[in-house]
Amino acid sequence: MDNLFDCLVIGGGVVGSAIARELSRYRLKIGVLEKNLDVCYETSGRNTAVIHGGFAYNTGSLKARFCVEGNRGMTKLADDLDFKFIRTGKVLIGNSEEDMASLKRTMAQGERNGVEGLTLIDGEKLHEMVPTVNGKFALWSPNSGIVDPFMYTIALAENAARNGVKYFLDNEVTAISHGTDGNYCVTTRRGVYHTRWVVNSAGLGCREISDMLGLTGYRVIFSKDHYIILDQRCGVDVPLPRYTVPSNTYMGIHVTPTVDGNVLVGPDAEERPALPRSAGSSAALYDVPQKNIDFLAEDASILWPHIHKKDYIRTYCGILPKWVDENGVIQDFKIEIRDDVAPRAVNLVGIESPGLTCAVPIARHVLDMMKEREPFEENPNFNGRRKGIRRFADMTDEERAEAIRQNPDYGELVCRCEKVSKAEILQAIHNPLGVETMTGIKYRTRSMMGRCQGGYCQMRVERMIEEEKGRRETEVLYNRQGSQVLFDKVREAQR
Ligand SMILES: Cc1cc2nc3c(=O)[nH]c(=O)nc-3n(C[C@H](O)[C@H](O)[C@H](O)COP(=O)(O)OP(=O)(O)OC[C@H]3O[C@@H](n4cnc5c(N)ncnc54)[C@H](O)[C@@H]3O)c2cc1C
Repeated sequence: MDNLFDCLVIGGGVVGSAIARELSRYRLKIGVLEKNLDVCYETSGRNTAVIHGGFAYNTGSLKARFCVEGNRGMTKLADDLDFKFIRTGKVLIGNSEEDMASLKRTMAQGERNGVEGLTLIDGEKLHEMVPTVNGKFALWSPNSGIVDPFMYTIALAENAARNGVKYFLDNEVTAISHGTDGNYCVTTRRGVYHTRWVVNSAGLGCREISDMLGLTGYRVIFSKDHYIILDQRCGVDVPLPRYTVPSNTYMGIHVTPTVDGNVLVGPDAEERPALPRSAGSSAALYDVPQKNIDFLAEDASILWPHIHKKDYIRTYCGILPKWVDENGVIQDFKIEIRDDVAPRAVNLVGIESPGLTCAVPIARHVLDMMKEREPFEENPNFNGRRKGIRRFADMTDEERAEAIRQNPDYGELVCRCEKVSKAEILQAIHNPLGVETMTGIKYRTRSMMGRCQGGYCQMRVERMIEEEKGRRETEVLYNRQGSQVLFDKVREAQR
């Protein structure tokens, strides 16, 4: 049967893609069913992108264990898969006696969790390490870092695809049933698939998929978190993430550099009992109200008093799925196989922060659970390395000259703000996952991510998608289904 799989992973975010990549180490027929037109449209592309140290989570929890493991493995992973990761370190800044007591508790918890290098530093050292900072002392975590969340997710997915995993984008799962042959029958808006194993890695949709598997009763609430993105000129003053004193459930508003030199301010955390959705659609609602932006700027000024409206280039928000008990207390990650109710179904619930840091350890854990139940034969052709698109912006002058000599398209800049060349846009349009949305090209190249937010390059990119993919102008989508960039002609060309 052509559409019978050994394993179908539902959800192609960072966790689903890490699981798909781990599965591809074995001789298995694997598919990923993803409802969106690309892999990082939901939580994996909407976060702070910090690779956490692992001190903020309860000792003994999966969050703590996987966070420490994920942090340790990130340098090698980034090298293998060619995405940006910078081990910047991070400071948690305090001012009062209460803050000091809390930081000491956090440090002790971190040490119990196996986090290395945590140190309390005084104000003098803090001001020496972090320019323009407000604060009297800090907890210094040298192993924390920042990552490119889009390319991290895309790299995992592309490497999984390179090792034989089939990505089925635009395939929202709507029903799952058990067939008489013992396999699962998974229905999407595009078709029906059969599989021996199924993995629920649906992020914000984890409870719906869990219900479809018969694993009912999970209570999941949501935290809608907003951010401001500041211009790259602010990055000079923010070399590493600066946080306030955290609780075990909320990190507080922080000021964080991105790997490309922008600065993120946020997030606040608005608790929602149900997933906020766009009107008349099942898609999550990612609006950012003005009042949240104003609040973020004011609150974060305590940590860094240089937040000015002239530096705002964009806002965004992300939503966390939190599994809570009957009293509303946030629980650990849930990763289970219930052989009695849903055999050969791995169910992941409440993969909230630090899910980005934990993706690969979560994936290994999922594989260990599966292999306890069934032996898998190794895939001798597995290749865990991937090469990404070479960025003109990151090259030296000599490298640029050589790149242009070898490929003249490197000599034509399409996005001026981020210095993205035509060669990069073309490689992105022909990406291994077959993504052809504007946002897909943006995440893969950084075109449209600069100061002018696409004012100069957006229509050039749109035209290149039309030409390269043979699409009409009304067929090119911005991000989701139905998000045409152009609807019609205002006037026909003069004849
Ligand atoms: C504001 C914020 C800040 C964060 N900061 C950090 C941080 O600094 N460090 C860190 O480590 N973690 C952080 N996180 C957490 C981290 O981003 C998430 O834990 C991680 O991205 C979860 O990945 P995922 O693959 O489980 O979910 P997702 O990325 O949401 O992927 C799930 C996928 O499933 C798909 N899907 C859902 N339902 C269906 C369906 N029915 N059929 C088919 N597909 C479906 C979705 O389209 C989606 O692509 C943050 C999260 C937020 C929201």
